[in-house]
Amino acid sequence: MTFPIRFVLCETSHPGNIGAAARAIKTMGFSDLVLVNPQEFPSREADARASSAVDVLIQARVESSLENAIADCGLVVGTSARRRSTRWPELDPRECATEVLKVSTVSPVAIVFGTERSGLENEQMDLCNALVHIPANPDYSSLNMAAAVQLIAYELRMAQGESDPPQLPEFPPATAGDMELFYEHLWRVLVASGFLKPDNPRQLRRKLRRLFNRARLDENELKILRGVLSSVEQGGTIEADQQDEAAGRRQCS
Ligand code: SAH
Repeated sequence: MTFPIRFVLCETSHPGNIGAAARAIKTMGFSDLVLVNPQEFPSREADARASSAVDVLIQARVESSLENAIADCGLVVGTSARRRSTRWPELDPRECATEVLKVSTVSPVAIVFGTERSGLENEQMDLCNALVHIPANPDYSSLNMAAAVQLIAYELRMAQGESDPPQLPEFPPATAGDMELFYEHLWRVLVASGFLKPDNPRQLRRKLRRLFNRARLDENELKILRGVLSSVEQGGTIEADQQDEAAGRRQCS
């Protein structure tokens, strides 16, 4: 069994692009479309551009935040028209397809597209495990958003035909929603210890987020980290081998 591969469009300003994206994903055999705060939706223009993919628009989910759109996902890949700094791991579209298909055997995955004018914001990229950039003319690398959806969906389709049976990971990946709970816990502990000033710098939090998002933790590793935080909160009264998860015990001791 595989989980659906979700295409998430953030704050799309032109409804025609939403329709074109729906068409792009349907032609490649996908259907899971989530719209985060679209400027205009539903829309006649979107329907017209979707052509025979109106069913994808009808089923599309509208969300008020990217966090909600990806909360159940074990892998979140952002797309970027520009090569960003090395702070985010970068995949090319083929590596992205292979990775997305692999993780989709154990968990929902999302590929996130930015708004037409400015792309994904840093706060949105902070929610991603990796970024994918479609190689293009360095002097003009910004594709139309729906064209970018088409290319990524095409690579996924090509990779589906080729992939070897995937190696199943020992534990499913931590979901984005669980990661948010972990971050809340981490900030709480760091503020209580005095390491993080409550008014301080989102910069430090961002760096820590990037570190953990890059690590792509699995459920079990996350559980261990939550156990570490709880132990610190309770003055070290919880020991690693009191954690109930057997595999967690193995790794901690
Ligand atoms: N001016 C913006 C471009 C936004 S294009 C910028 O410089 O970031 C709208 C969206 O289309 C992007 O957020 C991204 O999701 C997708 N996109 C456009 N060109 C792309 C490329 N070369 N590689 C990957 N995604 C691309």
